[in-house]
Amino acid sequence: MSELKDMKIMMFPSKYIQGDGAIQFLPEVMAKFGDKPFVLATKSMIPLAKTLMGNKGKVEQFGGECSRNEIDRVKALAQGSTAIAAIGGGKPIDTAKVVADEMGIPVVVAATIAATDAPTSGCAVVYTDEGVYVEVLYQKHNPDVVLIDTDIILKAPARFLISGMGDALATFFEANSCEKTGSLSEAFALRTQTAMALSKLCLDMLLKYGRQAAKDAQAGIKSEAVEAVIEANTLLSGIGFESGGLGSAHSVHNGLTVLPATHHLYHGEKVAFGTLVGLELYDDLGIKDEVYDFCIDVGLPVTFEELHIPNVTDAELKEVAESAYKFNFMSHEPVELSTDIVFEAIKKTDKVGREKKAAKGK
Ligand SMILES: [Zn+2]
Repeated sequence: MSELKDMKIMMFPSKYIQGDGAIQFLPEVMAKFGDKPFVLATKSMIPLAKTLMGNKGKVEQFGGECSRNEIDRVKALAQGSTAIAAIGGGKPIDTAKVVADEMGIPVVVAATIAATDAPTSGCAVVYTDEGVYVEVLYQKHNPDVVLIDTDIILKAPARFLISGMGDALATFFEANSCEKTGSLSEAFALRTQTAMALSKLCLDMLLKYGRQAAKDAQAGIKSEAVEAVIEANTLLSGIGFESGGLGSAHSVHNGLTVLPATHHLYHGEKVAFGTLVGLELYDDLGIKDEVYDFCIDVGLPVTFEELHIPNVTDAELKEVAESAYKFNFMSHEPVELSTDIVFEAIKKTDKVGREKKAAKGK
């Protein structure tokens, strides 16, 4: 008998709204679900949330961590609400997703940065109150509405958008490796051709618009390129990783976290370096050089120095390689691997990265 994991599963958010001033539509979107909206907002977004919602429903400030205590606190406050919205980054978004799932009410996600693919996915990462990882919780379905306001994204530092490109850059390569090895996606099943096509579109859009978007975001300029990259970082990367699967890039990311100095980097920055390591291991498209150039041009890390580990020792890198190799996503790669092979690929990435930067005069 076949099991659910033998099926192809594709997950989507129900509605995705993106554009300049999109946040203004939050009250209208919430009203469609009922007359008792509840809005959980990150501190800096509280004045905007209060202005938008007026005397409709409740607005509550996010406590700072997506922990069981915070989830229970928000759940108690949201009793009787008809829908919950989160305005902020990954942690308030994840908190609202879990609260909505456990209460059986709709969730509206208003992301204020485009740094990760958390807004569209149907899972949430839970930590202790002190920020130590506890578990990933999977919701019954993906968010009901995802609302991305270009104006708000552009007010955040450009580094968030660029880091999001790093996370999105891995999407196609990891899905491609999973497809080649028949590995399970983050929907715990096989892939549709739709997931593969959207992952490829994610990569194509980054390569086409990423450089211009990085420049525009740094200058705070609204443009077609910025719009395209926001879509790639949130919608396409979100759908792609969840229904496509993960591989070496996120394994190397996790390996790098054994070095405390890399904690100052954003998720997508480490994933970008992991993507290059992954391409040193397996590059069936022959696209490696193009991806190095892209990372250098937009400002994603390609060297140990840029990972804040300029003096890293071979012994430390062995630890990184071992941790990355042991991570189960690494087995999704269609090549024979070992700790030594991963170690050599990590060292080669830094070497090639330095050479390419020097050739570009950077
Ligand atoms: Zn990621």
